[in-house]
Amino acid sequence: MMSKKHEMNLVDSVVAAGLCTGCGLCEGLSAVGEISMQLSPLGYLRPKVGGEVSSAVEAEIKACCPGVEVAHEKSVEHYNVNWGALRGVKVGYAVDSYVRHMGSSGGVLSALCIHLLESKAVDFVAHIAVSQTDPIANELQLSRTRDDVIRAAGSRYAPSAPLRTLKALLATGERFAFLGKPCDVAALRAYMRLHTSVRDQIPYLLSFMCAGIPSHHGTTELVRAMGADPDQLASFRYRGDGWPGVARAVQRDGEAFEMDYNRSWGGILGKHLQFRCKICADGTGELADIVCADAWYGKDGYPDFEERAGRSLVLARTEAGQAFVNRAEADRSIVTEDIAVDEIAAMQPYQLDRKRLAASRGFATLLARGRTTKYRRLGLRDATLQAGLIGSLRNVWGTYRRAVGEPHLSYQKPESK
Ligand SMILES: Cc1cc2nc3c(=O)[nH]c(=O)nc-3n(C[C@H](O)[C@H](O)[C@H](O)COP(=O)(O)OP(=O)(O)OC[C@H]3O[C@@H](n4cnc5c(N)ncnc54)[C@H](O)[C@@H]3O)c2cc1C
Repeated sequence: MMSKKHEMNLVDSVVAAGLCTGCGLCEGLSAVGEISMQLSPLGYLRPKVGGEVSSAVEAEIKACCPGVEVAHEKSVEHYNVNWGALRGVKVGYAVDSYVRHMGSSGGVLSALCIHLLESKAVDFVAHIAVSQTDPIANELQLSRTRDDVIRAAGSRYAPSAPLRTLKALLATGERFAFLGKPCDVAALRAYMRLHTSVRDQIPYLLSFMCAGIPSHHGTTELVRAMGADPDQLASFRYRGDGWPGVARAVQRDGEAFEMDYNRSWGGILGKHLQFRCKICADGTGELADIVCADAWYGKDGYPDFEERAGRSLVLARTEAGQAFVNRAEADRSIVTEDIAVDEIAAMQPYQLDRKRLAASRGFATLLARGRTTKYRRLGLRDATLQAGLIGSLRNVWGTYRRAVGEPHLSYQKPESK
């Protein structure tokens, strides 16, 4: 099947190998109607190529698509092989207690967005929020006020393609910050390398650590497991409104259903991740200026999900990111304290494993599917050495089996049970 790869256009071959992240950049770079993001039968957002894509656009996609490559431009200062560039390592929370409460962890990302808007550093923030029309769908929101930002607060564990209107965002001529998944940010950073003129227009790229995108079907399974009807929802949130907060579905008849984070993510959503996320070497958002994550408290060496006041891990990666965190702290938007780099591993053990095993998983994907995502200057060789031979071999074999067996084509139907 993979021998067909050479006959396919680039976008289709990335999708066919299961390497598409669903960021939407290819649609964002193409002319109207050439490529459009659609929900595949497997419940992921995938590009559908509807017309001939010009060679110039295809070259741009090749240079920026995070299914093709994720790369640092040059070797990066303050680089930690497990966690990427670290100019500031902090834990903290939004000073505004409502923002802290509505945020996924400590509400720091939302507080930073509000600070950017209120200080007029940007005209809007481009980020994902719940769809205006469908409580279990995501869409890009251009936030211009505190209320807009709060509407988008909280993690939405479902497909999102925030870059599908990139050209239109740039055409506004306004300055904006972009907040998205690590793969979205990697794609935009690559685009900004190609088009240096837009760097001033997008002064900040913000991200969060990401364990992967679950299928849309994961959400419908979750809603049903909560006892609600996915077709009767008035609202739905995955978490936030506390830390970690509960998944909460409210039906149009007013009946409300809840499930705790451990069961919703661990029991259901985490089992629906797209293949590309399982081999990702950049779960920690290395290309962003600032990355936030859950600053979990540990119990017996593992994060425990007891309900508490929210706390975010805050990593400043670039000079601009570090200066902005300092400014937000000085202006009392966020409160933070420094922590030692070694403490990150106890909060994010899953991300540590992913980085160390990513090269083995990528190699297995190349063997099984004839293509894999390239990671350049992300220190994968040194990270792999930390994983040890047995762990690496086990992951090559496990991923190989999965890559051969798992349905991955864009419009292939799941195998019938
Ligand atoms: C799919 C997914 C996987 C995650 N995996 C991890 C993980 O492994 N470890 C970890 O510590 N944290 C993970 N997070 C992030 C975490 O849940 C918090 O978002 C993070 O701690 C920041 O919290 P906050 O309170 O500062 O963010 P908030 O103030 O709540 O802001 C969150 C921002 O995330 C954006 N957002 C939400 N959902 C999406 C989406 N689907 N696509 C793009 N942008 C979105 C919103 O636009 C919002 O502005 C994940 C989030 C998502 C969406």
